Amino acid sequence: MMDVVVIGAGISGAATAYELATAGLSVMVLDRWGPAAMASGWTLAGVRQLGRDPAELPLAQAAVADWEGLDEKLDAPTHYRQDGNIRLARTEQDIEQLTAMVSAQQRAGLDAEMLDAQALQALAPAVSPAVMGAAYCATDGHADPRATVIAFLAAAERAGAELRFGEEVLSVDVSEDRVTGVMTRRGRIACGRVVVAAGVLGNRLLAPLDLAVPMVARAVTVLRSAPVPAVLAQVIGVADASCAGRQETDGRFRFTSGSGPWPGTMDWPDESAGTSGARPGPRLMPPVREVVRVAGLFGALVPAALDAPLAESWVGLVDMTPDALPVIEAAATPRGLVMAHGFSGHGFCLGPVTGRILAALVRDEMPNLPIAPFALSRFKTQAAATAPLTLHG
Ligand SMILES: Cc1cc2nc3c(=O)[nH]c(=O)nc-3n(C[C@H](O)[C@H](O)[C@H](O)COP(=O)(O)OP(=O)(O)OC[C@H]3O[C@@H](n4cnc5c(N)ncnc54)[C@H](O)[C@@H]3O)c2cc1C
Repeated sequence: MMDVVVIGAGISGAATAYELATAGLSVMVLDRWGPAAMASGWTLAGVRQLGRDPAELPLAQAAVADWEGLDEKLDAPTHYRQDGNIRLARTEQDIEQLTAMVSAQQRAGLDAEMLDAQALQALAPAVSPAVMGAAYCATDGHADPRATVIAFLAAAERAGAELRFGEEVLSVDVSEDRVTGVMTRRGRIACGRVVVAAGVLGNRLLAPLDLAVPMVARAVTVLRSAPVPAVLAQVIGVADASCAGRQETDGRFRFTSGSGPWPGTMDWPDESAGTSGARPGPRLMPPVREVVRVAGLFGALVPAALDAPLAESWVGLVDMTPDALPVIEAAATPRGLVMAHGFSGHGFCLGPVTGRILAALVRDEMPNLPIAPFALSRFKTQAAATAPLTLHG
């Protein structure tokens, strides 16, 4: 019998598996497709503290400290770069909004600052001179999402974790109010603890346990260019959160903008009934109209991006909760179930810390970071606010 089954090989599940395996627990990771098959592959992969909700800021700050040593810890390249995050102001109103945000974040202990147009041009000459100024956090950055997830999984495997890909979990088994295992398309796996880190599909497993997270799938279009000479080091966002982008370490532009709820299916064919092994996740394509819109938005901010050859585009699904904050907790019932969902477009940066928190909860330890704001029970009492989708990298 395994100590722990981790459902989901995105960054949350991969980091948790690493923490548990290196702590000496027997761990099995199950994914319906493979590493980074969903949000952790679709993502922009910004590592950002700037503009975080006060509840998330301590986690984001702890995560950045983790990211700084991650390549060494995992003994593999994540392509993490600490080159800063810039949130652009295009109007006087934006300047006011960002100035207030920076002041609040400085009071909360973040080293953020405002840049005027001249300072912005000096720091990031690829940004359009029409931009009036920006908020800036020098300790933010970005990483390669797939490389990061694979690095966590490989390190977990070296520490003894078993990885099984192409294997969908159908249900979490419970007996006498305790988890006892999981049922997959290939059979039953007995275990003492289950970590559910299944992203936007999580409620398929959680709803039958009365643990459904109120979240909707929002569609976000991502465009990625072929490699071109490096002109942009920072991750770019905008005051109104309408788009974000960056240049990857190999020169590819990767930029994104959100739209409405995902209008397509999430009932993808059951591809895990055949042979086992990793397979690519669902590839969702945006309408041409969205490609044009996103190119226009980001191209107006970083004109060089429009000259780069377009290599690919896709739709990423974001697991949006009503307050745009995640649910991270150990369920009171059934005992032995730990979960993390609803990152609302901000969970890549947090991955290393999510892993540490979930691993502590699995071991019945108190995480050393504040997670009370992320309790599922808040939705029973909280007004049904609907936070906007914000993309800042
Ligand atoms: C376009 C886009 C841009 C983003 N930009 C940023 C950003 O700049 N910075 C940032 O911090 N965050 C960003 N995010 C959010 C971030 O990528 C996610 O919050 C994060 O990757 C979530 O990781 P996860 O491991 O929790 O979930 P996922 O990566 O979605 O992993 C869930 C895994 O569970 C598996 N799974 C699901 N159901 C089952 C099942 N029944 N059985 C077995 N396996 C199952 C899936 O195959 C998947 O691999 C962005 C997201 C998107 C979509």
